[in-house]
Amino acid sequence: MQRITVVGLGIIGSAWAKNLHSDGLSVRAWNRSPKDFAFYEPDLVKAVTDAEMIIIVVADPAAVEGILDQIVPHLKRGQLVAQSSTISAHWTKLFAERVQATGAEFLEAPFTGSKPAAEARKTVFYLGGTSELIEKARPVLQRISAQTLHVGAIGTASSLKLAMNLNLAVMAEALSESLTLTRAEGIPDEKYFEALHMNVGRSGFSDLKEPKFRAGDYAAQFSLKHMNKDLRLALETVDGIHLPIAEALKAFYNKGMDAGLGDDDFIGVVRLLSKSKGLKK
Ligand code: NAP
Repeated sequence: MQRITVVGLGIIGSAWAKNLHSDGLSVRAWNRSPKDFAFYEPDLVKAVTDAEMIIIVVADPAAVEGILDQIVPHLKRGQLVAQSSTISAHWTKLFAERVQATGAEFLEAPFTGSKPAAEARKTVFYLGGTSELIEKARPVLQRISAQTLHVGAIGTASSLKLAMNLNLAVMAEALSESLTLTRAEGIPDEKYFEALHMNVGRSGFSDLKEPKFRAGDYAAQFSLKHMNKDLRLALETVDGIHLPIAEALKAFYNKGMDAGLGDDDFIGVVRLLSKSKGLKK
């Protein structure tokens, strides 16, 4: 596959498009708001015409739906649509049917790994669909990823992705509350993280976010608004099952959204904890 279109030039789509372009592939990219890329195509229909693979990586189900409304009438047999935005199994199955009805193929391809991983081609894809389709997409996916996991039929990868993010949201909250306790007691962050390094509670997640917590750097690697959306989709997916922590976290993230923290990294909600004590970070 040589002709690739990336639909969505946010944090992740920009990194993937740049890496695919620097590999010498014929890349076109579209974004709702114009972007300053040499390979940017402002017309969405033109951007996908004759593309062998179309990678969609936008905010949420509504955004994916709006894009499909525009491109579905123009899709053809021989094209492959890889849908990488984090959405739920419910929406994924609806979107797959729409794409497949045109003769084009649909690969469910949510992923993990935030901005640094995307830039370093270390994204990890969770894939839903047939093995044949995955093999077809693999030459492109392996240029921007470190690993792929075939989860099962269409819908399974999105559910697994939401489960992974639910775990991360809980880990972020646990780390934030624990750190807030030591900050409130006047214990320096260096001591907190020194102790964490000697403790089984240390994780890949805490290693990733430690520099940001210490610097009070809340620039988004993965935004609060998207984690808020993922908590909503996770709760919709388990409709009827009581998940007490997820429900409490969703209410807390709503406060983060109300406080205007949506575009910050999702660890930025730590400031809501510390505010009452007048802590600086
Ligand atoms: P982002 O930086 O917030 O970018 C969002 C993208 O979606 C932008 O291109 C935005 O266009 C577009 N968009 C939003 N609403 C739209 C609409 N109604 N119609 C068309 N386009 C729309 O997001 P991101 O961090 O790259 O994440 C993209 C997806 O990957 C999300 O589903 C997210 O949950 C998932 N994800 C992200 C990460 C991560 O660490 N960042 C990790 C795993 C999964 P504009 O520029 O015009 O606003």
